[in-house]
Amino acid sequence: MLYIGSHISSSKGYAAMGRQAIKLGASTFAFFTRNPRGGKAKEIRETDVRKYLEIAEEQKFGPIVAHAPYTLNACAAKEDLRVFARETMADDLQRMEYIPGNYYNFHPGSHVGQGAEIGIEKIAEVLNDVLLPEQTTTVLLETMAGKGSEVGRSFEELRAILDRVKLQEKMGVCLDTCHVWDAGYDIVHDLDGVLQEFDRVIGLNRLKAIHINDSMNPLGAHKDRHEKIGQGHIGMDAFVRIINHPALCHLPFVLETPNDDDGWAQEIAMLRAEYTQ
Ligand code: FE
Ligand code: FE
Ligand code: ZN
Repeated sequence: MLYIGSHISSSKGYAAMGRQAIKLGASTFAFFTRNPRGGKAKEIRETDVRKYLEIAEEQKFGPIVAHAPYTLNACAAKEDLRVFARETMADDLQRMEYIPGNYYNFHPGSHVGQGAEIGIEKIAEVLNDVLLPEQTTTVLLETMAGKGSEVGRSFEELRAILDRVKLQEKMGVCLDTCHVWDAGYDIVHDLDGVLQEFDRVIGLNRLKAIHINDSMNPLGAHKDRHEKIGQGHIGMDAFVRIINHPALCHLPFVLETPNDDDGWAQEIAMLRAEYTQ
């Protein structure tokens, strides 16, 4: 069973997301917990969530991967921005408990000139403030392309954050194929080597989800411009190896490619046709 899907708009609630996933042929998906640029989250209606949970069970969806607003910066230099990141994440995690046992992915942050070490400390500080022993959600650090002063541009930086978190069992990693490629990990010519490196530095047991995106730029470009599957520098052959790799094939794959719904439905069908596990 290949768990694959795309980003889905959360503006019409949970049941609508479930129905949209079915329409796209998806078996997992991602959604923004609130406007991706931040702001207040929509109220959750219990009947809507219940309906969604029925759909998810019926359709045998894999775990879904909520995405924090990409404006959050847990290691901002300004205190009020870090407070905003902490309050937003705490609120999101509370809301995630309506759909228990799923994933909440976030971009670790940008150190904005403070240096990666300080960034790492501040990100871990926020995580230690918001994680709760009773939560059922696993929080995922996303691998980053290393544009600007992004933290999480190497497996070592992610490991350094994880090492500082007290509730280790609540944490995992989401690997973005465009980002690791742009960061300089050659998943095209040496997928096994990259995964061995991930295992050595972080541990493959911590890898919980994949953002499956092609890249507009060559290896190591540190740019982060997503391309449609098979139309960028990573290329279709590499994606066939990625979805079928024994260390990855059971994970949820989420498309963040520049597409409309038809484009996503096509990419989902195209990747399903190449799944041989
Ligand atoms: Fe992301
Ligand atoms: Fe991503
Ligand atoms: Zn990206």
